[in-house]
Amino acid sequence: MDRLPKAVFDHLPNPVILIGLKREVVEINRAARDLFDIHRTGHDLAISLRNPDILRIVDSVMAEGGVREVETTIADTPPRVIAVHAEHISEIEKIGESDGIVVVLSVTDLTAIKRTEHMRVDFVANASHELRSPLSAIIGFLETLAGPAKEDFESHARFIDIMLRESRRMTRLIDDLLSLSRVEINEHVRPTEAISIRPILESVVETLTVKAAERGMVLVLNFGENIQPLLGDAEQLEQVFHNLVDNAIKYGAENSQIAVYVSPVDRVPGRRIAGASVSVIDKGDGIPHDAIPRLTERFYRVDKARSRTLGSTGLGLAICKHIINRHRGHLEIDSTPGEGSTFTVYLPIAPTSNPNSGAEI
Ligand code: ADP
Repeated sequence: MDRLPKAVFDHLPNPVILIGLKREVVEINRAARDLFDIHRTGHDLAISLRNPDILRIVDSVMAEGGVREVETTIADTPPRVIAVHAEHISEIEKIGESDGIVVVLSVTDLTAIKRTEHMRVDFVANASHELRSPLSAIIGFLETLAGPAKEDFESHARFIDIMLRESRRMTRLIDDLLSLSRVEINEHVRPTEAISIRPILESVVETLTVKAAERGMVLVLNFGENIQPLLGDAEQLEQVFHNLVDNAIKYGAENSQIAVYVSPVDRVPGRRIAGASVSVIDKGDGIPHDAIPRLTERFYRVDKARSRTLGSTGLGLAICKHIINRHRGHLEIDSTPGEGSTFTVYLPIAPTSNPNSGAEI
């Protein structure tokens, strides 16, 4: 290349291909070589790039000038959705061996945007579905009360009970949805407070002791030596541990013990910073191995029917994941079916608590 140094061309993040008068490939930058797996220049574009959508806009621009754009999919695992922009160059410049370039092809990868769009559509559909089922139940019972069961006073109390339960489920769903969106909005804002984890966990245990006792369960809290203050948002962390202990109560075995262990760690996984780990350990049915990676997905439940009777929303662990991400922490889930589960949250220490090991290297 004469004008634009090749190194600069290669460092453009978007794939770019320069095409000559005979539709030959004159130059390809590194991003385009990686995306299309084209390595040779000088021959017809159609030999290395079999995508008919792209060839069509190139031919059209070569014949009529101007600009064309097309959205197309290319084979990859998973397939990539790309927007290809072909632009005619009116001032033909001689470049290297070729007689000049006539078309500049540039590509924008839309795969991530499409995936996000897809997730949003799925989320709206799932949320509506989750809200619709309790609402349909309430409408059904109200219609029965207003019609066939009008005089059946014995059934009234039972129907009202069911309607109350379904209404509470809707309230919980809305609360969790709002919580999730609040957490997502500030996910990129790091917490700045140095907090002590002990009162947070003590408060969670105090709040949930009665609920655990209803199932004959005992909550035990253990602190290791030398737990430093952590960098965190106390209210959000209380929500994380409330959800985890609440799950242990819901899915643990009756009359079993739930242990919460806090230990110092040299490194938060994936980061070069010291921290603390908080493990919530239950004895219960455990979780099938295949389900573990999906637990933090919104609305995912291992046993849908059972979770529903427990009044769950399927959003608790999704909220935990976002809060832990905001804290630049890490969530680890270990479970043995038939024995129980351990949910471990790693959180970084507050830098001021130990200037030597706290600062990230
Ligand atoms: P919810 O409990 O509201 O359904 P969560 O997001 O908190 O939603 O949990 C998602 C699913 O993960 C639950 O429905 C349950 O199937 C499974 N799960 C969570 N915690 C445990 C646990 N301690 N033991 C077994 N299964 C669990």
